Parts: sequence; structure tokens; C-alpha cells
Amino acid sequence: MSRNEFQRSVRVSIIKRATKSLPSGFSYVCCERCGMDARGRFVVDHIDPDALQIDKSRTLTAEEGQVLCDPCNKVKTAQDVINIAKAKRIEARHLGDRDPRTAKIAQRPKVPRSSSKLDSIRVLGSALKRQGFIPAKEAAE
Ligand SMILES: [Zn+2]
Repeated sequence: MSRNEFQRSVRVSIIKRATKSLPSGFSYVCCERCGMDARGRFVVDHIDPDALQIDKSRTLTAEEGQVLCDPCNKVKTAQDVINIAKAKRIEARHLGDRDPRTAKIAQRPKVPRSSSKLDSIRVLGSALKRQGFIPAKEAAE
């Protein structure tokens, strides 16, 4: 499924929110996490990771985004990756999926060594004899 990106107008309003103006008229975009001047290198980040959104068709609001500088974005992305992986594991387990490396596979019932194929044929033969499908003489063999 594709990412649900912010509409341009929403992105612009997020950047405006993060923009600080100096009395001199100079303005700069601040990281909304650390408060530092992003020095023109920033991203408009999904506060709640896009990968964890269930409904990706809805329109995102400015409150769901934030301006992050490069270092803050790297830190948040690393944490997001962990959270997304965990959410996917929980979802898979909820749906009944098990990790094949750790899943316990139902074992075929152990057949005692004494009961071989031949024994099974004998049991079947005597059952058929009892029910009259095979004459007693033949089944005895
Ligand atoms: Zn920052």
C-alpha cells in the first residue's frame, strides 16, 4: 500500500508553524523536536508513522505532522522502524500466524515398532473376516 503523504497546503502550514521570525525580518525553520535551526535541511514527518495507519485514504491534518531536522529525523525513524516491526509481529500473531523457526509442529503419532504394515494388514484382514467380506480360510493366511 502506498504512503499517505501530506497535501501540499498541509505541508506548507506545518512548515509555517515551525518557522520563527526574527525582529530583523530574517526567518528560519526550526526543528519541532529539538528546537534548533534546521538550516534548510528538514523533513515534514508523520508523527504517527504512516506504516501504522489503518486508513490511508483519509486526508492528513497539520496536527499529524511535524518538522524534523536531519538528526532528529534519523533518531525518530530508527524508533519508528522498531515500533512498526513490533506492530507487525503482534498483528501476525493476532491473526494466527506463527514464526516458522519457533512454531511447534503437531507431531505425527508415534507408531510402536511392533505394529508394522504387516500387522495393520492382519488387523484389517481379521476385521473383514469378522464382517464376512473374506472367507475365514483366506483371512487366516
Ligand atoms: Zn531536531
